[in-house]
Amino acid sequence: MPTTRALGPVTVIPLPDGEGTFPDPRTAMFPEATPELWAAADALDPGAVTPGGEWYLRYRCFALRLESGRIILVDAGIGPADSPAATWAPVPGRLPAELMAAGIDPADVDTVVLTHLHTDHIGWAVIGEPGVPYFRNARYLMQAVEVGAIRAGSEHLTRRLLAPLGAQLSTVDGRERLAPGISVVATPGHTPGHQCVLLEHGEDAILFTGDLLVHAIQVIDPELAYGGETDPAAARDSRLGMLRDLAGRGGETLLATPHLTEPFTTPTER
Ligand SMILES: [Zn+2]
Repeated sequence: MPTTRALGPVTVIPLPDGEGTFPDPRTAMFPEATPELWAAADALDPGAVTPGGEWYLRYRCFALRLESGRIILVDAGIGPADSPAATWAPVPGRLPAELMAAGIDPADVDTVVLTHLHTDHIGWAVIGEPGVPYFRNARYLMQAVEVGAIRAGSEHLTRRLLAPLGAQLSTVDGRERLAPGISVVATPGHTPGHQCVLLEHGEDAILFTGDLLVHAIQVIDPELAYGGETDPAAARDSRLGMLRDLAGRGGETLLATPHLTEPFTTPTER
């Protein structure tokens, strides 16, 4: 069982799906990063670099278990051996076994929040070809802008992800409350309709970042652009805005990230 965290009545369960090296040199993905920043990032997250200097990253989802027993899943990982991520990511992922270990039946998941529609975040959303929704009783929640961008730009993902979801596909514009203290928040930039999940309890909060930040180097310097961002300026604004929001709360705040070595990271004071 992974290390869980409780915030108020909600239990947060990290669910590792896979891990491996990034296909491109990490310095190419953060062209503005200085050697000092890399040194600080490697001190904060030593597991994210190989002895050869490659970026080593995790692919992780999270489950939120509410007091009612309701399960909300944040992101759907890299997926099985034939998933859309298979061209570049270390498939197959192991989410099914991790869900079982956590006592979660896929049929019990009632909401799947997809932070964005990059292939390493949608892997288990729909399986097979022609595809079927892996979480058969869940609504799948995405920003309308993200769905529109995929329909306009990717025939492949429209066919493999959006079409099989049918009536289970649910869109939101901006912010929506999923349960008391749990909201999705639009954080555009990494992709046009990127969103985060914010879990709040009193002054404490956990932000499920998706790819609002992808590496510890952006925890240390949130202004630093990542080469995979569709709109780096918008991504930076979203990142700084969310981190400012967390810093202003006064309580304990955590970042729950898909790609850093540890599931939970404390935002650095700025
Ligand atoms: Zn990602």
